[in-house]
Amino acid sequence: MVTLRNLLVLALLAAGPAGACEVRDFLTTELPAKADLPWIDALELAYPGTEVSANRQTLILADGRKLPTGFGDVPLSPQERLEDASITEQFLQTYPLAFDLTLRETPWFDPGRARNEPFFRALYGNSKAEAAAGLEEVRWPGDAKAIFMMSEKTCAATQLRAALAAIHAIGPEMNVYFQTIGGSFNWRVIAGTTRLSGHSFGIAVDFNTELGGYWRWSGAREGKVGAYDNRYPEALVREMERYGFIWGGKWHHFDGMHFEYRPELILYARLTGAQSD
Ligand SMILES: [Zn+2]
Repeated sequence: MVTLRNLLVLALLAAGPAGACEVRDFLTTELPAKADLPWIDALELAYPGTEVSANRQTLILADGRKLPTGFGDVPLSPQERLEDASITEQFLQTYPLAFDLTLRETPWFDPGRARNEPFFRALYGNSKAEAAAGLEEVRWPGDAKAIFMMSEKTCAATQLRAALAAIHAIGPEMNVYFQTIGGSFNWRVIAGTTRLSGHSFGIAVDFNTELGGYWRWSGAREGKVGAYDNRYPEALVREMERYGFIWGGKWHHFDGMHFEYRPELILYARLTGAQSD
């Protein structure tokens, strides 16, 4: 007999049990033995249930929605990609797993900065309200009081919680990075552009803004950003990468406080043989 109570239980089950996400270590997780095109493996592994069609033209999300991949299209220049990257173009620059800040001195080397906006809108929400509906609170477990609002739609909140626990375990010297934080969820365009920031989707965090430099604040010109005075330690960056976050400190247009949940880019780097030194 279907009672109101049973219906309620069924509705709750359909919504997914709380804590459904399992923590994943993207630096050690097993890679497919027989790799397809690495961008396909990276997407399918990063976002379980996602599939690329046999002709590679269509990305099929776990809920059946379809997006064009841009496979086979003539690639745009790095500048053009920032405005309108296809799904495949997001992989044209490989995010370096090594902690080598000379790589970013190449103009327009910004792996992960070019986003396919329809992809993120489909995964996280097509409006501020939709994106906000997927958020969970994640707290820094140390002395500094830092709270981040992150999307759990792809387990980003669970992954950030794991990363912060690992960073906290390094030692009390990590507290300073969680003071004067820049924030997390914020449905907004990137300064000086009409593009939505990763913060719009609840997948980006800005830690200590005073220690993490930002190219726009440095007076540098777009496309001509030189070296910068990074003050974020390798150990912190490594733990963030382990749990699926890329770091803006590796971009030519550096954003040293910024981390963004892009496990497909960490996996792609491993699938294509980039070493984590
Ligand atoms: Zn940011």
